Amino acid sequence: MSRQGIGGEAAALASDVFLRVAAPPFRVGPGSYLSLMPVLEACDVHKTYTRGDREVAAVRGVTLSLEAGEHVALVGPSGCGKSTLLHLCGAMDRPSRGQVSVEGQSLAPLDDDQLTRLRRRRIGFVFQFFNLLPTLTVRQNIGLPLVLDGCPDADVAARTAIVAESVRLTDRLEHYPAELSGGEAQRAAIARAVIHEPAVLIADEPTGNLDSENGARVLEVLLDLNRRFGTALLMATHDAGLASRSDRILRMRDGRETPES
Ligand code: ADP
Repeated sequence: MSRQGIGGEAAALASDVFLRVAAPPFRVGPGSYLSLMPVLEACDVHKTYTRGDREVAAVRGVTLSLEAGEHVALVGPSGCGKSTLLHLCGAMDRPSRGQVSVEGQSLAPLDDDQLTRLRRRRIGFVFQFFNLLPTLTVRQNIGLPLVLDGCPDADVAARTAIVAESVRLTDRLEHYPAELSGGEAQRAAIARAVIHEPAVLIADEPTGNLDSENGARVLEVLLDLNRRFGTALLMATHDAGLASRSDRILRMRDGRETPES
């Protein structure tokens, strides 16, 4: 993947681009020279929801750190707080207590517009149920983050072609989501999540709705993007086999991190 054709963001990411273009594919991650600063940090984060007159403590003091190129699996029983933690890390929700930082930028002082911009530019999100827009073609779905960010049409087209190729969907670009298999839909969702070359890709049970063959292909696409482009990957999963492919496993129970059993 090159950044050819990308407009205003290119300058801000120039050193990153240089490294990518100079010698792809290459491995970044723990211990490499690109690991000077965590790309994602959560420090003692808590999230409490209010349901009627009841409080639900969904996340109760989790601390984590991801470096560029690292792949961390988040595992734990249903209801233990995985999705809530991912939403906090992905700047989709604010913690009740504690701090989240992306590439050294604390999210706490950012207003909602600034959080939206940060999400659009530096974070990618993949959901279990794909969340593609049914009235848009695959091409339009994939390019949407760049369109929303005001990217010129020619750049959107060029980038869409590149990411569609990397998830092997070039021949499905004019289809609508309803015409895709589950695996194809998830690969389209992944392409949409990485079109802006996020620093962090957050995936919430990305293979949970797929059969094993499609799940395996989706996992390979995610791992390939993680390895080749140094995108940090934080992925919640119930699948022990999938978790075992990660660099590190973070286990949760009742809103807290638990030691490995
Ligand atoms: P997991 O992803 O591990 O299944 P979740 O993060 O979805 O767990 O949920 C953790 C707890 O928080 C659960 O008890 C869930 O019911 C509760 N919860 C999640 N979202 C909300 C919400 N928006 N309002 C109230 N409670 C919520």
